Amino acid sequence: MPVGTQGTVKAVPQDTLESLGAEIILGNTYHLYLRPGHEPIRRMGGLHRFISWPRAMLTDSGGFQVFSLSQLRKVTDDGVQFRSHLDGSSHSFTPEHSIDVQIALGADICMALDECTEYPADRRRAEESLRLTMAWAKRSLTHFRAHRDEVPWRDRCESHQEQGASQHDQGVPHPSSSWVGSLSSHASHDRTQSLFGIVQGGMYADLRRQCAERLVEMDFDGYAIGGLSVGEPRELTLEMISEVLPLLPKDKPRYVMGVGYPDEIEQYARMGVDMMDCVLPTRAARHALLFTSVGRVNIKNKQYSEDQNPPDPACNCPVCRRYSRAYLRHLVQAGEPLAATLNSIHNLAFYLGIMQRVRASFESERWSLAEP
Ligand SMILES: [Zn+2]
Repeated sequence: MPVGTQGTVKAVPQDTLESLGAEIILGNTYHLYLRPGHEPIRRMGGLHRFISWPRAMLTDSGGFQVFSLSQLRKVTDDGVQFRSHLDGSSHSFTPEHSIDVQIALGADICMALDECTEYPADRRRAEESLRLTMAWAKRSLTHFRAHRDEVPWRDRCESHQEQGASQHDQGVPHPSSSWVGSLSSHASHDRTQSLFGIVQGGMYADLRRQCAERLVEMDFDGYAIGGLSVGEPRELTLEMISEVLPLLPKDKPRYVMGVGYPDEIEQYARMGVDMMDCVLPTRAARHALLFTSVGRVNIKNKQYSEDQNPPDPACNCPVCRRYSRAYLRHLVQAGEPLAATLNSIHNLAFYLGIMQRVRASFESERWSLAEP
């Protein structure tokens, strides 16, 4: 899932994301809540309509950015108080408030408010943090179940289905056709948002297992494994995923948050992870780092100044089909905004291409198993 922090995957227009095959993008609740605000977005029909994105969307709970970006945060059992990184104004997220904001934004998938346990954390700290995450998960689910019908696009979906109207309302799409709509256990006429719970527990396998079991009892629409890729060694990331994954229902989406490098996402997908998000392809692109079939290419390097080859000789993306390494290097050197756009398009194509190949190999395995 490409990350669209502020309602945009930085430097890449929505139609390009569609043509690259992005089926779902992320929005960050913390950022959208502060600016432009969830109420204006709700009044405009929700995030899909506001940013003109007809495919699936996921919003996080806002918690991660509160912990990483805002100052003077204060965590209590009730929730977290924080000051905006934009203007210093005071705010708070409780599990209920985060759900209210995410319902107003109207993404297909909402996430329960959790505390992302830092690394390293001693066992007592991880236990205390997990206690909070599990209590907040329960409150998030209760509140979500009571209010899930309030999503801004729901009325429009229903009237459209009754009238057999097209998926487009005044040319701007709504999300009723997205694949994520099928996650809902309700009948198709009752489609609304889905809520995922997040497994925490620091780097303690037994705490992780305990959290997974409790969340599965609560019966979320999908499950995420959070608090990874926070500075721990990669073997530990892998160990935590291996411990938790078998405990999560196979017939519901399993999402590892905030990973990873190209080889990691392939490895996790082959282990059974269904969803991942990472800012890496776009963030690295803005720092002139390309992920390619021949390894990482720092396109700023002088060695590319007259290199007429495509950025990645094995890539068929619109950037590699059209432009040379020398030109991309020139754009970076000249500080041209097009550099960020072209580098991001290639990196996203590379990441999405990995997942397309993994899916294709699962398909062919299934076919070969089906043969007599
Ligand atoms: Zn490319």
